[in-house]
Amino acid sequence: MNLNELTIKESIEKLRAGEITSQDLTEACLSQIEKLEPMLNACITIARDEAMIAAKQADARRASGEDSPLLGIPYLVKDNILTKGVRATAASKSLENYIAPYDATIIAKLRKQGAVILGKTNLDEFAHGASTENSAFDVTKNPWDLTRVPGGSSGGSAAAVAANMCIFALGTDTGGSIRQPASFCGIVGLKPTYGRASRNGLIAMTSSTDVPGPITKTVEDAAIVMGVIAGHDDFDATTLNMEVDNYLKNLELKDLKGLRVGLPSEYFSEGLDPKIKEIVLEASDKLIKLGAKVEEVSLPHTKYSIPVYYIITPSEVSSNLARFDGLKYGKKVEEIKNLEDAYLKSRGVGFGPEVKRRIMIGTYALSSGYYDAYYVRAQKVRTKIRQELDVVLSKVDLLLTPTTPHIAFKIGEQNKDPLKMYLEDIFVSPASLAGLPAMSVPCGFSDNMPVGMQLIGKRFDEQMLFGVANLYEKNTDWNKKKPEVKIEE
Ligand code: GLN
Repeated sequence: MNLNELTIKESIEKLRAGEITSQDLTEACLSQIEKLEPMLNACITIARDEAMIAAKQADARRASGEDSPLLGIPYLVKDNILTKGVRATAASKSLENYIAPYDATIIAKLRKQGAVILGKTNLDEFAHGASTENSAFDVTKNPWDLTRVPGGSSGGSAAAVAANMCIFALGTDTGGSIRQPASFCGIVGLKPTYGRASRNGLIAMTSSTDVPGPITKTVEDAAIVMGVIAGHDDFDATTLNMEVDNYLKNLELKDLKGLRVGLPSEYFSEGLDPKIKEIVLEASDKLIKLGAKVEEVSLPHTKYSIPVYYIITPSEVSSNLARFDGLKYGKKVEEIKNLEDAYLKSRGVGFGPEVKRRIMIGTYALSSGYYDAYYVRAQKVRTKIRQELDVVLSKVDLLLTPTTPHIAFKIGEQNKDPLKMYLEDIFVSPASLAGLPAMSVPCGFSDNMPVGMQLIGKRFDEQMLFGVANLYEKNTDWNKKKPEVKIEE
């Protein structure tokens, strides 16, 4: 086994035993990145020199007696998260030369632990998308099939983890961007509860739903990373000042006796590929065999999630992206006539078509006369969606749903029709609007492509998701199968 194929758990055991060094591990990941990048295009920036220095420092820290769950573990970071001194583009031309002046809070926490940054991964521009096709830095390919998308917007991180370019990666999830690519690439992705991990240092998309989270090879690894990045942050007033659970505790579960799982009928109806339905229902049978009680539940407001999400998100986007004006942030254009011309030119050349579309939709939805009809109404329906989920989750411990309505689609297949692309978020947007924790876990294959199931938990009950998903993973072997990427000469 090559070192880059290891999980966090396996790597740390070998590091602790002195069998390998962080420099060995980091070199193995960098070599894999360099080998596969021409085929996958998962990265925007590879920080080879910085990574090797950090690995050397981690080895020195270990030699002096230090230890932590991530000391010396190399990882990749979605390029909308700031890492000091390294370029942060958000996959936008407007930020192609922007160097992050500080570390995001979650990065600072990982740095303190001694984790090693390998580089920055590709995404849909400003995280607007579900395929990683809307990037100013070209399309990322799915390692299982190079003609298919890896999902998005954290497509680079997901493809990289699936292709063993790193030991783990970070993504952000605003309306599915960790869970959907994790499902398309056959790996684990957790969107924590809104407010559980700091947004400080994330390039903001939809501030009311953005959350960073882990993309990993196993459930246990996700729990390890979450244990480090979770917690209150003075720089993000929406983080809760509440103790972080011990996420490793439930990994000891031996069965699921007493657990109540809800299957929301609205997630298993029209629009869902019958093969995916079959696979997710098999996963549900597995949970029953492990002792859980599965019951059908109903969430009738689910159908409003996409329209509501696509009013709220563009509204917040139109406001958040105002700072990219060519003066504060964004592309500076040399030949300008006046201030307005500077704004127009900077934003005109800096932003791609999907970003412009969202700014226009959001500006319209927020404009006087339309504000009540669109934005306010969307917020009211959002409250209904949240309340309905909270009521159902007061009767069951968690919900089981498909993560996506179908397997990873072909590159170019959905990109011409924005509405079709928006519909990709059908099963992932409700938990985002409600701020609930949700995780995608591999549960089968269809047409040789991975399929993921989604577990949605109660607010701040990540621990429950880890326990159930880990036991399921231990009793199946879906996550053991790996893609083979053909090297093109
Ligand atoms: N597909 C969704 C969108 O385009 C989700 C994006 C995200 O979670 N960053 O908005």
